[in-house]
Amino acid sequence: MQTIQEDKLWQAVLGDIEISLSRANFLTWFKNTAIATSDESGVTIAVPNVFIKQQLERKYSQLILDTLHKNGVSVDTLAFKTQVFTRPQVDEIPEPAEVQRSMESSNKTTSKQSRQTTNPLSHNYRQGLNEKYTFDNFVVGAGNELAYAACQAVSGQIGTKYNPLFLYGGAGIGKTHLIQAVGNSVLAKRPGSRVVYITSEQFVQEFVDALRFKRNTDFADFYRSADVLIIDDVQFFAGKEKIQEEFFHTFNALHQANKQMIISSDKPPRDIPTLEERLRSRFVWGMSIDMQNPDFETRCAIIQAKAENKGVRLPADVVDLLATQFQTNIRELEGALNQVLAFCEMRELEPNLAIVSGLLGSQATRPKHLSSKQIIERTARYYQISLEDILSPKRDKDIVFPRQVAMYLLRSELHLSFPKIAVELGRKDHTTAIHSVEKIEKEYNLNPEVRTAVTDIKERLYA
Ligand code: ADP
Ligand code: MG
Repeated sequence: MQTIQEDKLWQAVLGDIEISLSRANFLTWFKNTAIATSDESGVTIAVPNVFIKQQLERKYSQLILDTLHKNGVSVDTLAFKTQVFTRPQVDEIPEPAEVQRSMESSNKTTSKQSRQTTNPLSHNYRQGLNEKYTFDNFVVGAGNELAYAACQAVSGQIGTKYNPLFLYGGAGIGKTHLIQAVGNSVLAKRPGSRVVYITSEQFVQEFVDALRFKRNTDFADFYRSADVLIIDDVQFFAGKEKIQEEFFHTFNALHQANKQMIISSDKPPRDIPTLEERLRSRFVWGMSIDMQNPDFETRCAIIQAKAENKGVRLPADVVDLLATQFQTNIRELEGALNQVLAFCEMRELEPNLAIVSGLLGSQATRPKHLSSKQIIERTARYYQISLEDILSPKRDKDIVFPRQVAMYLLRSELHLSFPKIAVELGRKDHTTAIHSVEKIEKEYNLNPEVRTAVTDIKERLYA
């Protein structure tokens, strides 16, 4: 039987290990383990069965040795032996749901009450959140302002405002950043809150593990006792019936208890294939927000903010170039910026347009065989207007639209800067170019006629 010191040591070790593993894994492999014997030569761990013994030997020996070392016990050898060992206190460590239940009910025994004050599992509820995602370092602009406002509102009033809050939009536009910011903000305001952030893929994995190791109730209890449950990229639930069912029950339990749910996805609930109807309808109970690609100005502001954060001020043309090259995915934009900053820092250079366009490589270089003039001429011809008209200041609808398409093509095919595009089409103001390009970008996605026109013109250009 283990001594009190061994018991304490093992509890400390388990506490550390728990943080580094998923909850399902931790419970599966480490529940009902104990130190059987220990001396200078080594430590023997008692485990409940042979299967767990094998897994611990194979996968977790080093982790256990390291963690023992961290807790002041340096031994070289670790042995495992099967021994039915149920340490009463271990079993009585309240599961999170139990803690909640006992907190909610007032007439509990004193012994239970004394345990609530130090909930040994509470650190689990931080799991998954990354402190770097905050509201403060999120740049708000067209495309994301509604999502930002909703997230802020939710963080100030969890469970009652918009429940669930459902954010959807393309890759790299800040969904994860915003939903994690809610979690961090809730924890900053109310440190004891149980905030759980998990991607739907992890959720699926944990669920599968839990089923396999017959830990379904641990799994369900954990998620159903959160104050704020944040599920990222829920589109991965598509086609997974069992998971959808499990999540449906979790959803209902939390919703009934006025606990906040925040969900993100790359598409709206109606477009997630094979999403059960009852779940689909739940997802739109609260508020769904379509996050749009940040517009040009917002992208510029993001670049500036990220550069300044690293103590660098970028010249406007460099910012412009980056914001032009990366129109939809802020993750890619950030990657390119970091590459530029690292490059310049190593060589002690000030970032400038030549360096940056060189670094961005082929994406930034224009195809040699294509000129602005060809693009403008082709576009005019496609719409059967004269070159003179497309270059004129005329504001007729029949002329304005082809002009906008030409600007869009100058951007997409030649990657010209906005001021340059404006000049090519005889405009003075480059904001016209920005608006035109953005307008056609949008129409391209919405309007099949525009898509056909653009594709046709391109085909002829490259023919
Ligand atoms: P998503 O989850 O939508 O794919 P992320 O939230 O992971 O996108 O965002 C990708 C990267 O871009 C992250 O590093 C994030 O911090 C950053 N990012 C996105 N939008 C903004 C913004 N408006 N302000 C600051 N950073 C942003
Ligand atoms: Mg994401």
